[in-house]
Amino acid sequence: MPLEIDLGPTASRFRAELRDWLEANAPDAPTSEDRRGLVTDPEWARRLQDAGYLCVSWPKEFGGRGLTGLEVAVMNEEFARAKVPRVTRGMGEGLVGPSIIVWGTDEQKAYFLPRIIDGTDVYCQGFSEPDAGSDLAGLQTRGVVDGEEVVISGQKVWTSGATRANIMFCLCRTDPDAPKHRGISYVLVPMKREDGASNGFDLSPIKQMTGLAGFTATFINEARAPLFNVIGGLNNGWRVAMTTLGNERGGNATTQHVQHARDFWAFVDKVRQIGKANDPVVRQQLAWAYSHVEIMRFQGLRLLSALADRRDPGPSSSINKMFWSEYQRRFGEIMMDTIGMASTVTDEDYRLDRWQSIFLTSRSHTIWGGTAQVQRNIAGERVLGLPKEPGMESDRGEPVG
Ligand SMILES: Cc1cc2nc3c(=O)[nH]c(=O)nc-3n(C[C@H](O)[C@H](O)[C@H](O)COP(=O)(O)OP(=O)(O)OC[C@H]3O[C@@H](n4cnc5c(N)ncnc54)[C@H](O)[C@@H]3O)c2cc1C
Repeated sequence: MPLEIDLGPTASRFRAELRDWLEANAPDAPTSEDRRGLVTDPEWARRLQDAGYLCVSWPKEFGGRGLTGLEVAVMNEEFARAKVPRVTRGMGEGLVGPSIIVWGTDEQKAYFLPRIIDGTDVYCQGFSEPDAGSDLAGLQTRGVVDGEEVVISGQKVWTSGATRANIMFCLCRTDPDAPKHRGISYVLVPMKREDGASNGFDLSPIKQMTGLAGFTATFINEARAPLFNVIGGLNNGWRVAMTTLGNERGGNATTQHVQHARDFWAFVDKVRQIGKANDPVVRQQLAWAYSHVEIMRFQGLRLLSALADRRDPGPSSSINKMFWSEYQRRFGEIMMDTIGMASTVTDEDYRLDRWQSIFLTSRSHTIWGGTAQVQRNIAGERVLGLPKEPGMESDRGEPVG
């Protein structure tokens, strides 16, 4: 499996430095990691924080390491090689931090960014509502300014990680009379009050077909946040949200092929175990999957060159999101078809095996962060320059105004 990419002398130097550090510091026993890279070993997280290996793509002045996309790719590879997890700070690192860096005041940066790095603040995303998903600007959650605070009421849905989070980055309508994209504010809302009581949040977990309840229906009743927590200024939240969504779609496009390649080769082993390695139909499908993983690798390299001078992932990240999410759905189906009847059975506790888990989880990848259809709209309009869809003012992910 081609893992290491020759990325030139700067990257090679960084690779050598990192390899030395990992050799001296990586834990002997493997630390555990969930699918989002959130690590459950605080000692390893602390070691990485002390050495400056957290939130590494943030600029140095904000506590990051100022790594380029290329160096992050090297880092992902070296951590994978050393079999240790790269600790990430979830949505705080990937979505909120970069948006605060672009839109926050100096005081907001000084207050909120260190709390993401040291793990004090764990964020959840309060964007979607029952009637506002793709058409995100149709959101109805209200925000009323009361003295030095914003008071927020409404309903959010599909709030991933809400039960683990202590703060929500929330979109609310602070000017109901303004055109729909202009009256929205982006507010960081603590989920608990200082005395530990809920800050008006009522979370109702929603169980998914994987058997896990990864998100909630989130009822917000007069949650209070200081005006200081409004990012980008009152009624300017749509622009901030677009920065957030650009990062959500962009993801780790440069190195995601590594995980897909791992799943692919592990599945090849499974196919051998079940005696289907010589089945011509299975071989044809495996060839299809392999070629797609390779396309992701080359696309990652292409993106790396683009990122060398520009940090913003831009609208082409929509093409990437569409490609990998649709690939994984198809790969999931191939796995289930190949394994056959056994793929439909779980134990009595509904514990899924690796293949079932990939298959069922993959169904959601073409939905979150903007559906595959919406990514096509963005790619059509903003990458290819096609005319806008008739009657559509905007989609989730398309900046307006
Ligand atoms: C696993 C998972 C985790 C999520 N986590 C979060 C979270 O943490 N926070 C959060 O705020 N949200 C979260 N979401 C919600 C997600 O962002 C929305 O589900 C998504 O934006 C789609 O919105 P919707 O579900 O309302 O579908 P709708 O917008 O109602 O879409 C329904 C269908 O219509 C299609 N469609 C809609 N508009 C168009 C158009 N203009 N052109 C073509 N087709 C169109 C869609 O593609 C889709 O097939 C999560 C979703 C999932 C599945």
